[in-house]
Amino acid sequence: MHVHIFWDASSPVGLQMPVSRLISSILRVPTTVSENHVRMMGYVPERKQIDAQALLDGIQAYKYRHGIDDPVLLVVQQDLFRNGNSFVFGLAREQVGAAVVSSARLSNEYYGRYGSDDDLIDRITKEGAHEIGHLLGLGHCENPECIMFRPNTLDELDRKKKMLCPACEAQLDGITPAQ
Ligand SMILES: [Zn+2]
Ligand SMILES: [Zn+2]
Repeated sequence: MHVHIFWDASSPVGLQMPVSRLISSILRVPTTVSENHVRMMGYVPERKQIDAQALLDGIQAYKYRHGIDDPVLLVVQQDLFRNGNSFVFGLAREQVGAAVVSSARLSNEYYGRYGSDDDLIDRITKEGAHEIGHLLGLGHCENPECIMFRPNTLDELDRKKKMLCPACEAQLDGITPAQ
Protein backbone atom coordinates (compact mmCIF):
# COMPACT_ATOMS: atom_id res chain seq x y z
CA MET A 1 0.00 0.00 0.00
CA HIS A 2 1.14 3.51 -0.67
CA VAL A 3 -0.45 6.93 -0.65
CA HIS A 4 -0.76 8.79 -3.95
CA ILE A 5 -0.36 12.54 -3.73
CA PHE A 6 -1.69 14.37 -6.80
CA TRP A 7 -0.20 17.84 -7.04
CA ASP A 8 -2.38 20.12 -9.13
CA ALA A 9 -0.63 22.41 -11.61
CA SER A 10 -2.13 25.39 -9.74
CA SER A 11 -0.45 24.37 -6.45
CA PRO A 12 2.77 25.96 -5.18
CA VAL A 13 5.58 24.79 -7.45
CA GLY A 14 8.54 22.89 -6.03
CA LEU A 15 7.09 22.05 -2.61
CA GLN A 16 5.70 18.63 -3.45
CA MET A 17 8.81 16.59 -2.63
CA PRO A 18 9.38 17.94 0.90
CA VAL A 19 5.63 17.72 1.64
CA SER A 20 5.50 14.12 0.41
CA ARG A 21 8.57 13.12 2.45
CA LEU A 22 7.26 14.74 5.63
CA ILE A 23 3.80 13.17 5.30
CA SER A 24 5.45 9.80 4.76
CA SER A 25 7.52 10.17 7.95
CA ILE A 26 4.58 11.38 10.07
CA LEU A 27 2.27 8.52 9.08
CA ARG A 28 5.02 5.99 8.33
CA VAL A 29 3.51 5.07 4.97
CA PRO A 30 5.18 5.23 1.55
CA THR A 31 4.02 8.17 -0.56
CA THR A 32 4.42 9.07 -4.22
CA VAL A 33 3.78 12.44 -5.82
CA SER A 34 2.60 12.96 -9.36
CA GLU A 35 1.03 15.62 -11.51
CA ASN A 36 -2.73 15.83 -11.06
CA HIS A 37 -4.94 14.42 -13.82
CA VAL A 38 -8.23 14.58 -11.92
CA ARG A 39 -10.59 17.02 -13.60
CA MET A 40 -11.12 20.13 -11.47
CA MET A 41 -14.86 20.05 -10.93
CA GLY A 42 -17.15 22.07 -8.69
CA TYR A 43 -16.00 25.66 -9.23
CA VAL A 44 -18.66 28.15 -8.12
CA PRO A 45 -17.96 31.53 -9.77
CA GLU A 46 -20.12 33.57 -7.33
CA ARG A 47 -18.04 32.28 -4.42
CA LYS A 48 -14.73 32.02 -6.29
CA GLN A 49 -14.40 28.69 -4.50
CA ILE A 50 -14.52 25.00 -5.36
CA ASP A 51 -17.07 22.69 -3.77
CA ALA A 52 -14.83 20.16 -2.00
CA GLN A 53 -17.49 17.45 -2.32
CA ALA A 54 -17.52 17.83 -6.11
CA LEU A 55 -13.72 17.51 -6.19
CA LEU A 56 -13.96 14.37 -4.07
CA ASP A 57 -16.50 13.03 -6.60
CA GLY A 58 -13.88 13.66 -9.28
CA ILE A 59 -11.17 11.83 -7.35
CA GLN A 60 -13.54 8.96 -6.63
CA ALA A 61 -14.39 8.62 -10.35
CA TYR A 62 -10.71 8.84 -11.30
CA LYS A 63 -9.74 6.12 -8.81
CA TYR A 64 -12.50 3.87 -10.10
CA ARG A 65 -11.54 4.41 -13.76
CA HIS A 66 -7.87 3.69 -13.09
CA GLY A 67 -8.40 0.86 -10.62
CA ILE A 68 -6.58 2.69 -7.79
CA ASP A 69 -7.37 1.17 -4.40
CA ASP A 70 -4.74 3.07 -2.41
CA PRO A 71 -5.54 6.38 -0.72
CA VAL A 72 -5.34 9.51 -2.89
CA LEU A 73 -4.69 13.05 -1.66
CA LEU A 74 -5.22 15.89 -4.12
CA VAL A 75 -3.48 19.20 -3.37
CA VAL A 76 -4.98 22.26 -5.06
CA GLN A 77 -4.49 25.99 -4.82
CA GLN A 78 -8.12 27.05 -5.21
CA ASP A 79 -10.09 27.88 -2.09
CA LEU A 80 -12.50 25.13 -1.00
CA PHE A 81 -15.89 25.16 0.70
CA ARG A 82 -18.43 22.57 1.64
CA ASN A 83 -22.11 22.81 2.41
CA GLY A 84 -22.48 24.59 5.73
CA ASN A 85 -18.86 25.84 5.95
CA SER A 86 -17.69 29.09 4.40
CA PHE A 87 -14.37 27.38 3.73
CA VAL A 88 -12.46 24.22 4.54
CA PHE A 89 -8.68 23.65 4.60
CA GLY A 90 -9.32 20.11 3.40
CA LEU A 91 -11.81 17.26 3.32
CA ALA A 92 -11.62 13.46 3.33
CA ARG A 93 -14.06 10.83 2.13
CA GLU A 94 -12.96 7.79 4.09
CA GLN A 95 -15.23 5.21 2.41
CA VAL A 96 -13.52 5.72 -0.96
CA GLY A 97 -10.02 6.69 0.16
CA ALA A 98 -10.12 10.18 -1.33
CA ALA A 99 -9.04 13.48 0.19
CA VAL A 100 -8.36 17.03 -0.92
CA VAL A 101 -6.38 19.89 0.61
CA SER A 102 -6.23 23.53 -0.49
CA SER A 103 -3.16 25.70 -0.08
CA ALA A 104 -5.23 28.90 -0.58
CA ARG A 105 -5.49 29.85 3.11
CA LEU A 106 -2.18 28.26 4.12
CA SER A 107 0.12 30.95 2.73
CA ASN A 108 1.31 33.92 4.78
CA GLU A 109 0.41 36.17 1.85
CA TYR A 110 -3.27 35.34 2.29
CA TYR A 111 -3.10 37.03 5.72
CA GLY A 112 -1.04 39.98 4.50
CA ARG A 113 2.27 38.67 5.86
CA TYR A 114 5.54 37.93 4.08
CA GLY A 115 5.54 34.67 2.19
CA SER A 116 7.61 31.72 3.36
CA ASP A 117 8.04 28.40 1.58
CA ASP A 118 8.95 26.76 4.89
CA ASP A 119 5.65 27.85 6.48
CA LEU A 120 3.74 26.69 3.43
CA ILE A 121 5.47 23.29 3.38
CA ASP A 122 4.78 22.93 7.10
CA ARG A 123 1.06 23.70 6.75
CA ILE A 124 0.36 21.67 3.60
CA THR A 125 2.15 18.77 5.32
CA LYS A 126 0.01 19.04 8.45
CA GLU A 127 -3.25 19.38 6.53
CA GLY A 128 -2.30 16.62 4.09
CA ALA A 129 -1.22 14.23 6.85
CA HIS A 130 -4.44 14.99 8.76
CA GLU A 131 -6.70 14.12 5.82
CA ILE A 132 -4.69 11.01 4.93
CA GLY A 133 -4.86 10.06 8.62
CA HIS A 134 -8.64 9.94 8.21
CA LEU A 135 -8.24 7.74 5.12
CA LEU A 136 -6.08 5.38 7.18
CA GLY A 137 -8.84 5.11 9.78
CA LEU A 138 -7.94 7.75 12.37
CA GLY A 139 -10.55 10.08 13.87
CA HIS A 140 -10.13 13.50 15.44
CA CYS A 141 -7.91 13.94 18.48
CA GLU A 142 -8.26 16.32 21.44
CA ASN A 143 -4.51 16.85 21.77
CA PRO A 144 -3.87 20.31 20.22
CA GLU A 145 -0.35 19.28 19.16
CA CYS A 146 -1.45 16.12 17.36
CA ILE A 147 -1.80 15.92 13.57
CA MET A 148 -5.35 14.59 14.06
CA PHE A 149 -6.44 17.67 16.03
CA ARG A 150 -8.96 19.66 14.02
CA PRO A 151 -7.79 23.28 13.70
CA ASN A 152 -10.30 26.06 13.12
CA THR A 153 -7.72 28.77 12.55
CA LEU A 154 -4.27 29.14 11.04
CA ASP A 155 -2.81 29.68 14.53
CA GLU A 156 -4.27 26.39 15.70
CA LEU A 157 -2.81 24.71 12.64
CA ASP A 158 0.59 26.26 13.35
CA ARG A 159 0.45 25.10 16.97
CA LYS A 160 0.24 21.48 15.87
CA LYS A 161 3.42 19.46 15.61
CA LYS A 162 4.31 17.40 12.58
CA MET A 163 3.61 14.19 14.45
CA LEU A 164 0.89 11.99 15.82
CA CYS A 165 0.35 11.91 19.58
CA PRO A 166 1.24 8.56 21.22
CA ALA A 167 -2.44 7.52 21.37
CA CYS A 168 -3.04 8.12 17.65
CA GLU A 169 0.30 6.52 16.82
CA ALA A 170 -0.70 3.39 18.73
CA GLN A 171 -4.07 3.37 17.02
CA LEU A 172 -2.44 3.64 13.58
CA ASP A 173 -0.10 0.76 14.47
CA GLY A 174 -3.17 -1.33 15.09
CA ILE A 175 -4.72 -0.40 11.75
CA THR A 176 -1.83 -0.33 9.27
CA PRO A 177 -0.81 -3.73 7.98
CA ALA A 178 2.87 -4.53 8.52
CA GLN A 179 5.01 -3.52 5.54
ZN1 LIG B 1 -10.33 16.02 10.25
ZN1 LIG C 1 -3.70 12.28 18.60
